[in-house]
Amino acid sequence: MSISTSVLAELLQFIPNWRPQMYFKASLTALSHAMEDQVLAEADQPLVIASFQRERFYRQEAHRYQRIAGQTSQVYVLAAPETEFSNRSDIYETIAFTDDDGLAEEWHLIVIGQHYASCLICRERTQIFEQEKIETAMDNSRRFEGIWTSDRTVTQIAAKLVLNRILVYRPELANKIAEANRLYLDGDPLKTAISLQLSSNHPDPFVQRLVTYLQAGQYKILKANRSLASKEQKERLINSITSAIRRSLDTEEILQVAVQKLGEGLGVCRCLVYRCNENDVAATIKHEFLNDGIGSIKGRNWPLKNNPLFEEILELRESVSIDDAFHDPRIIDRSEPNSPQSLQNLVQSCSIYSWLLMPILYQGRLLGMVELHHCGPVPTYWKSEDISLVDAVATQVGVALIQAEAYASLQDLNEQLAALDRTRSNLVAITGHELRTPLSTIQVCLESLATEPDMSPELRQVMLDTALHDAERMRKLIQDFLTLSQLESGRIQWHPEPLSLSECVELSLSHIRARNLESTLPKIENHVSYDLPLVLADGEWVVEVLSKLLDNACKFTSPDGLITINVNHPNLQVLEVTVSDTGRGIEPNRLEKVFERFYQEEGALRRSIGGTGLGLAICRQIVQNWGGEIWAVSEGKNQGSQFHFTIPIVNEAIITNGSNNGYPQTTEPPIQKRRKTTRRKVN
Ligand code: ADP
Repeated sequence: MSISTSVLAELLQFIPNWRPQMYFKASLTALSHAMEDQVLAEADQPLVIASFQRERFYRQEAHRYQRIAGQTSQVYVLAAPETEFSNRSDIYETIAFTDDDGLAEEWHLIVIGQHYASCLICRERTQIFEQEKIETAMDNSRRFEGIWTSDRTVTQIAAKLVLNRILVYRPELANKIAEANRLYLDGDPLKTAISLQLSSNHPDPFVQRLVTYLQAGQYKILKANRSLASKEQKERLINSITSAIRRSLDTEEILQVAVQKLGEGLGVCRCLVYRCNENDVAATIKHEFLNDGIGSIKGRNWPLKNNPLFEEILELRESVSIDDAFHDPRIIDRSEPNSPQSLQNLVQSCSIYSWLLMPILYQGRLLGMVELHHCGPVPTYWKSEDISLVDAVATQVGVALIQAEAYASLQDLNEQLAALDRTRSNLVAITGHELRTPLSTIQVCLESLATEPDMSPELRQVMLDTALHDAERMRKLIQDFLTLSQLESGRIQWHPEPLSLSECVELSLSHIRARNLESTLPKIENHVSYDLPLVLADGEWVVEVLSKLLDNACKFTSPDGLITINVNHPNLQVLEVTVSDTGRGIEPNRLEKVFERFYQEEGALRRSIGGTGLGLAICRQIVQNWGGEIWAVSEGKNQGSQFHFTIPIVNEAIITNGSNNGYPQTTEPPIQKRRKTTRRKVN
């Protein structure tokens, strides 16, 4: 036994010229209290009918109805029962309607006395939009629509409609209701109404004004609530993203969490977060959030260079938002027709209707981009609060990325430190071994000389020669070791200047010849011409590299072999020097190893040719200092070797303009000048 129809709808059928108005719950509460106060203030015995949507709303007002019932016997209270409310005849009548009754959606108060009559017949607005759900959570902002009037006829019609409904639930009240009809309703108002054609509602202007004020106040509260709710929503989203991304120190994870949460939080069709910097030509899309039915663009090359939107972001350092990408002049007018990378093509192929691009910046440095896409069918207008929310999230992502980068470089640094520590320990062990070996030989020789006076003069000479030879080896080893450690620690002062390479080669050849006066050297062919461009380097160190390479070539090539020196001009920036020999060659898997400290093929103990195993390591340090490269080439054992290194050519401007960047301006071949200077000692 329930009636699903609405009392308001029924009433409106009787007053077709009347339009229902919108009322906030707060306004209805004030109006209801005013009507009840009027009943209590008058000495009248009116008819009072109140219908509450739920029992709990009635309970808040029950004490008022007890007072009203003290004044009149015609009081009817209706509510949907929750716990105790039931059909009862107590000091007033209570009528419990069922949950599915139309009354469950409505709020009624009808009072009819001798001198006054007013009614409030309203229905709650149930068709609310998603956004409003947050607002209606605030009880006073619940909205109703309906009629509030002090028109006696309309009030009587309303009373009749509700009394009829009470009869359905409480038929035993037929006599009491008949009495109410007789006393307050002047016969049957439903019949009289049909002939009446009531004009529209014109309530008391004073009351109307009060209601307007109430409504306006409520609107303001609603607006304030709206902005509070959106701020709260924004803060919640930012907090959840921030705490999620700050938990991670992994860049990829940060981007994935940000894209997912932001896409979900803002309910966009597609959200992208990608890394890029100002000079990137394109970015690859690796992290995206997609709403149902939206096509993925993962793995796609996203154009940045010559992209007018990206250029605008770089210039302004702020977001770009486009409501209707299909008609935006930045996309339509500036797109290159037929180019697959044009923005117009991008917009069409990815169905981007509304587009928001937000840079991820950290201290002005571009780290990446956040993009939000709405894919139609109609444009979505970007709200300023959404833009500022994305801005706040982008800032957080920027901080998290920097943290992750700092952590990664810290880890790198730790690894480098650990590697350095390992190298240092190795170095100490190797150096110790390399020094001990000649020292032991010297000691044995000297001990033999000291303890064996009967030793033959020939053997004595051998002992002395061996001790001297190993002492010399130790001296060279210490010298090379100190040179290398100074080079590695950056304690060398470099004096780069324009040099003639052929002069340097001549100088190093004369060093080699002077050092090997007593031995037969292989034939050396110098193919370096005098008319090569000048190179820019420290002459002493160029000679050092050439001497070491020539020295090795002589050591590892038999006297009947051939050594050649060549210079190529592979590009405009460098010359490439090659020292080739026809000697013992190097196994292909050793070509890189020979540059390691103390690397010697036969091992230091079995060495017959001498050397420290540090020469090539020193050469690499020197060449790297001037920005060049050094490498070895060999076909293998007994196939000869070639050692190549590059050296930068002097920029012409340095010499001709006199803008020498601190390098001496010279007309005489610089190496001649340097020859007069004393050789810098390394110790
Ligand atoms: P070393 O003082 O032993 O020559 P280097 O660092 O100059 O030390 O060279 C390291 C090792 O590289 C040498 O011991 C040798 O095994 C190999 N090597 C260097 N130059 C040549 C070359 N021209 N031909 C063959 N092997 C070479």
